[in-house]
Amino acid sequence: SPDIRRHMERLAADGIDVVRVTYPDLLGTERARDVLLEELPRAMDHGLAFCRAVYHTSPQGDVVPVGGGLDAGLPDITVRPDLDTLAALPWEPGVATCLADVVDPATGSPAPESPRDLLRGVLARCRELDLRPVVGPELEYFLCEPDPAGGWRRYGRETGVVYTAGLRADPDNHLLRTLRHVRDLNLGVLSGNHEFDGGQFEINLRHSQALSAADRAFRFKAAVKELARGEGRLATFMAKPFNDAGGSGFHLHLSCEDAEGRNAFDDPAGAYGLSAEARHAVAGILAHAPALAALANPTVNSYKRFGPDTLAPWLVDWGLDNRSAMVRIPPERGSGSRLELRLGDASANPYLLIAGTLAAALLGIEAGEEPPAPLEGYGYDTGKSAVLPMSLSAALDALEADTALTGLLGKAFTTSFLTYKRDEVERFGRHVTDWEFTEYAHHL
Ligand code: GLU
Ligand code: MG
Ligand code: MG
Repeated sequence: SPDIRRHMERLAADGIDVVRVTYPDLLGTERARDVLLEELPRAMDHGLAFCRAVYHTSPQGDVVPVGGGLDAGLPDITVRPDLDTLAALPWEPGVATCLADVVDPATGSPAPESPRDLLRGVLARCRELDLRPVVGPELEYFLCEPDPAGGWRRYGRETGVVYTAGLRADPDNHLLRTLRHVRDLNLGVLSGNHEFDGGQFEINLRHSQALSAADRAFRFKAAVKELARGEGRLATFMAKPFNDAGGSGFHLHLSCEDAEGRNAFDDPAGAYGLSAEARHAVAGILAHAPALAALANPTVNSYKRFGPDTLAPWLVDWGLDNRSAMVRIPPERGSGSRLELRLGDASANPYLLIAGTLAAALLGIEAGEEPPAPLEGYGYDTGKSAVLPMSLSAALDALEADTALTGLLGKAFTTSFLTYKRDEVERFGRHVTDWEFTEYAHHL
């Protein structure tokens, strides 16, 4: 088609000879294939065949028994490049990257494990209410370097100081290099800084409509990991990688545009200067928080990030410019009126976190619920508010029980997600950890 020809000519003129076609799997892991430029038209016509399976994120790469995968003889899924997302890789001359959509070749419709389509489905429901969500992702991560004693240790761990930039906390200018590369990849980055703990960084992405925000957050995580690898390092978005440091959050800023493009969360005459929609959205997020945790905090490790004074919320509450609350209302109003959901950790699949948050907000708006009184002051006293599920297993049970939320996410997705994640819980439950040996081996 003329469209493909136009893209091919531009890519060739830019010296590109390989297109890296990537898609997010159920976990948000980047699955990819490097396609020679001359093969791109065929990939567009027929799609690329990948195996319909969900793999563990660990290097063992085992297949997980999700329905329609191993039990069905590992059939194909068809991966179709979305040429609107083509972008040259700034650090890899000759290579462009491109997102893709996943369809079931038997039916031609989106595969249930396609996180982009899950989000599209929730966005279609938002449109029925004339709401266009606007999302701003904030991601934290740890940078690790090889430990001469074996394994990985935190980079710059003796020198890190929160809200700093420059050589004292980042002697090799990792942050500057990363910031420039992700800017050149058109990910809409705003700024970066050193976070609370040594070796921990945060980079903020510009707000935009929700699918673009999810695409950019997904590509951002993959890009940071790739760049760190090129430095001989390891960037990790896992929730709580170290015992002697805090965790990494994935805060989500959320507002909505109405049909006229105005911020539907703003209302100078409304309670707290927020519109009824904004308050209902907060109420919906709080009401569905236990189920949402399964998507926002999707690993067995996620629940180790929560706790008193962590700035990672473990109580179901909201507050006005209060960083200990699960939903924080930043002080700006007018076009900047928004909520910040602080629940998610960096390991969350951006598509699932955003789809789940929007679904919960939507349910609150549809129900017209008002949130309870906002949290005042110190936010880590149990007894003031409900506690989140404190394990992945409990969060998965809460997700399964929340039929209003899973009704919006769809049965096929929910079944696959629960199957995969319960398998993870079970594998972890059987694994003997260092902690157990230290705790029990000597005196029991
Ligand atoms: N690292 C904290 C978290 O796990 C957030 C710190 C901050 O507010 O930037 O969510
Ligand atoms: Mg931060
Ligand atoms: Mg934040």
